[in-house]
Amino acid sequence: MTDQVIPVVNYLVLGERPHLAGFRCADCGAVYLLRRSACSRCGGAELGERVDLGDVGVVTAATVVHRAPEGVQTPFVSGVVALDGGGHVRTNLTGAAQDPVAAVGRRATMRTRSIGTDSRGVKAVSYEFEVQKE
Ligand SMILES: [Zn+2]
Repeated sequence: MTDQVIPVVNYLVLGERPHLAGFRCADCGAVYLLRRSACSRCGGAELGERVDLGDVGVVTAATVVHRAPEGVQTPFVSGVVALDGGGHVRTNLTGAAQDPVAAVGRRATMRTRSIGTDSRGVKAVSYEFEVQKE
């Protein structure tokens, strides 16, 4: 058995203050969560600088999901958060189940959650955003 903890996506940085990280285009400043060969906004090829995108942002879209693969409980709220540090992330939203549309424009804070442990004891950690009350 091990005490290893891994993020489910490489743009989730774990540690004392979990946050998201991405790559910023050196030419135009566009931000991407995943490494790219070129910027889709300006065509620039310098996307090597990994930057801290933080753990807070503003909800820009939200919807209720009623269908999912077997084992995933529905309904849940999925949405997009524009991060204060730049870039957008698709995420599950909590605290918005009563009225997902009303969540748009509100601030949200990331939190991590364990999504399972494999037979070797490796724990996988994911993220979601909690929509803040007005
Ligand atoms: Zn660019």
